Amino acid sequence: MIIYKTPEEIEIMREAAQIVSRTLGLIAAEIKPGVTPLQLDKIAEDYIRSQNAIPGFLGLYDFPNTLCISVNEQVVHGIPTDTPLKNGDIISVDCGSIYEGYYGDHAYTFEVGEVKPEIKKLLQVTKECLDLGIAEAKTGNRIGDIGFAIQQHAEKHGYGVVRDLVGHGLGKTMHEEPQVPNYGRRGRGKKIQNGLTIAIEPMINLGTERVVQLDDNWTIVTEDGLPSAHFEHDIAIIDGKPEILSTFKYVEEALAKK
Ligand code: MG
Ligand code: MG
Repeated sequence: MIIYKTPEEIEIMREAAQIVSRTLGLIAAEIKPGVTPLQLDKIAEDYIRSQNAIPGFLGLYDFPNTLCISVNEQVVHGIPTDTPLKNGDIISVDCGSIYEGYYGDHAYTFEVGEVKPEIKKLLQVTKECLDLGIAEAKTGNRIGDIGFAIQQHAEKHGYGVVRDLVGHGLGKTMHEEPQVPNYGRRGRGKKIQNGLTIAIEPMINLGTERVVQLDDNWTIVTEDGLPSAHFEHDIAIIDGKPEILSTFKYVEEALAKK
């Protein structure tokens, strides 16, 4: 069952999302070769708690940390480690918060130092996929229209669209109905209606779409070991149109200062 949200609930979710956005901005400022994912995790946990919120991932399905940090061929659900980041790495930082009982869930893939052009392009195209998917999240459309737009754009560039993990409804729980796949067919799936709140999160691979899970029972990696990118926004449908509750503004400001 889809739980449609009232305008008041959406405003609380906007703050939950913005807490994550500001957290990602702080992380953006710190990322450089030599920094460890666990250091970033500590910054995120401290900041989220300072905002009268609690980390949304910590303890969720027994996940051990505040951030999911997925490096290079890791797609999502990476557990932060004490292995320093290296020049040329990319890292997906996925962050959740719970504010007044509602979740924010939002992610960005960062470059560490100088990254190869082919990987920069993967990041750029994945971000474009997110924007194209969001543009389809309007009344009159169905969930399949979102995935269709994302898949078309990614595959046009020869990339693999991950099938095993999907976006999702968001609210008082992290994963609500409906599922929001990054692939699909026009006009298929649930109708998009006002009050729908979803996380749209393309996971796009440089090579094969196929992924496997590591023995830690968390980390998802590409089957061919090629890099993967992941960007995520929280969206509410208001007056028929998609409103982005999260923002990359803080990340972009931090990156511009580097
Ligand atoms: Mg996420
Ligand atoms: Mg999500």
